Amino acid sequence: MMMLTKKMIEIRGLLQTVGQSESLTLPSIVVIGSQSSGKSSVLEAIVGHEFLPKGSNMVTRRPIELTLVNTPDAQAEYGEFPALGLGKVTDFSQIQKTLTDLNLAVPASQCVTDDPIQLRIYSPNVPHLSLIDLPGYIQVTGRDQPPELKEKIAELCERYIQPPNVILAISAADVDLANSTALRASRKVDPRGERTIGVITKMDLVDPDRGASLLSDKKYALRLGYVGVVCRVPANATGSKLFNRGNGNITNAIAKNENAYFSSHAEFGPESHLDTGTNNLRKKLMHVLEQTMAASLKTTGEAIQRELAEATYEYKVQYNERPLSAESYLAESLDAFKHSFRGFTDQFGRQQVRELLKQELDQQVLNLLAQRYWNKPFEDLSAPLPESDPLSSLAKADPEGEQQIWQIKLDSSSAALTKLGVGRLATSVVASALQAHIDRLVSVSRFSAHPFARQAISEASTSILRDLSYDIADELEICIKPYKYRIEVEDNEWTKGRENVANVLKDELKVCESAVKRLEDQVGGRKRVRDVMAFIDRVRSGQVVLEGDGIGGAGGFSAALLQKGREAVFLRDRVDVLKMRLLAVKSKQCANKKNKYHCPEVFLDAVADKLTTTADLFLDAELLSKFYYIFPRELDARLGRGLSQSEIDRFAREDPKIRRHLDVVRRKELLEHVLKEMESLRQLEAREKRYTARR
Ligand code: GDP
Repeated sequence: MMMLTKKMIEIRGLLQTVGQSESLTLPSIVVIGSQSSGKSSVLEAIVGHEFLPKGSNMVTRRPIELTLVNTPDAQAEYGEFPALGLGKVTDFSQIQKTLTDLNLAVPASQCVTDDPIQLRIYSPNVPHLSLIDLPGYIQVTGRDQPPELKEKIAELCERYIQPPNVILAISAADVDLANSTALRASRKVDPRGERTIGVITKMDLVDPDRGASLLSDKKYALRLGYVGVVCRVPANATGSKLFNRGNGNITNAIAKNENAYFSSHAEFGPESHLDTGTNNLRKKLMHVLEQTMAASLKTTGEAIQRELAEATYEYKVQYNERPLSAESYLAESLDAFKHSFRGFTDQFGRQQVRELLKQELDQQVLNLLAQRYWNKPFEDLSAPLPESDPLSSLAKADPEGEQQIWQIKLDSSSAALTKLGVGRLATSVVASALQAHIDRLVSVSRFSAHPFARQAISEASTSILRDLSYDIADELEICIKPYKYRIEVEDNEWTKGRENVANVLKDELKVCESAVKRLEDQVGGRKRVRDVMAFIDRVRSGQVVLEGDGIGGAGGFSAALLQKGREAVFLRDRVDVLKMRLLAVKSKQCANKKNKYHCPEVFLDAVADKLTTTADLFLDAELLSKFYYIFPRELDARLGRGLSQSEIDRFAREDPKIRRHLDVVRRKELLEHVLKEMESLRQLEAREKRYTARR
């Protein structure tokens, strides 16, 4: 008997995790009663502990789904809130406090909700039972309570007392049964009294003959009958030191008290055939629950079969029966990503690093040339240098020292290039390129729909690159140190530099020319740009004096136009210089490295090329190969082994498509599991039948 109920209650619990479908459940016992009818006292007498919230201000705001689990071999009694993950709570006053808190968490404005609290109580002293405690009916609404509270409670109770649930209708003996809200509510949904158990509390408060007549009530006759109880915990029990209120077991104290009462009144004697006492009530509840659950098994089983067929169909049609778990999804995604990463590493090697670095250094060379050569016209070298220029004193002292000035200029430019901080610059250029590639790989991978994984991957690469870069930049700087003192350029290097820099200048020329074109379009035509430029040229040559720097515009041009004009003048000058230098680089003079002081472009390019060669070799060996080794392992650590089950679930469920797929798989598995459990229940049932038949 016990085993069957236990199994059925387990199945009921399993069904709860499958989802909210009306037909997918097994019946439970629903407890209703008016406030102060003694409802809590009855439940506590059944459990043997005080654990329900107390207080005049309606503290039951949510249904409590109470599952009692008989643990015959265990000594300990404890409760569990499966949804909260608090573990075993052995202190029943702690259970009471948690229930109160959970109830009070429902905002007063909402007053009641049908979101149930699940509580399991394990004890050798409880029967296997599944009970639902509902908020008590109220007659009048309190001043600080919302006016619709009364209806809301009634509606909530009505939803729960539908078939096939068993109704435990609590009424107090000292209130006229005709006025019992619980019995009235139950009569509405169970007019023939087939699934209601009447409980009359506070039997000690009325005369025994009146009490006895209540238990044999004919006006609302119940097939399952009425049970009379006295559930008050005697004062001497709670007061004694041995009895720790809230934690000690009150079963015996109540039973003793009840026995004393009912056996001292002949009205309740054996001949009366009246049902009295909490112990009897317990037995009745077990019996009725088992019968009701067993009666529901067939329909529930069919409902499960239907649901399973539906889930199986969906699994087949929508997902092609592709099995999926959060773990397998993560593992597959990670493998695919690592695969695409390996593909990338094959394509991004020393050659690619070299191109990146050369481009960057070409730009640095252009900047240096502009700063140190081009912005001062070449022909104009004889003109007095500004006092601030260190070369000025030299030039003054020795007008013949032109050659020397060119020499110093080139040496200092080349030194500026080698002392640029190439170690840091090159490392960061390559590290940023790697990071950008990783981000691109992520964005085209499955992980793109997973913010959590995206972040984990991005953090992995950033932190590895940061750690590696720190030392590598310094080491690279040491590698290029010799170039800081002396640079020898070979003939073939010179030729190569000359070719390369000509291309760089050509490209730069193109960039400038298209910038000019853009500017003309913005300003409104070439003519207009020419007019502004002519005006600015006149200002520069001192023919026109600008007032207030032309902030408010000048010469009929707006300030914005003048600004554009200045940009145009700059670009024109740059284009002129570039064309001139391009001719110089291509000239015979620059074919010979002996003339290097007059061909700084070629020389600086050759220096940049040497720096690049050192850097790409070093970065390929240090940064790339180390990163390529560490990164996939770091991914495994962060997204593989390092994740907890709940993190893996959270990850997989981030993608709505995967979430739906996982839900179907889970539902199907759960339903199959429930069906298997039901099958074993049938076997258990058959065995019990054989056993009773043999006896
Ligand atoms: P609830 O509001 O329906 O949960 O009612 P309670 O269980 O809190 O009981 C209301 C009051 O009635 C409390 O003061 C209880 O001590 C008291 N009470 C409950 N059952 C009995 C009983 O059988 N006899 C007597 N005399 N008092 C009882």
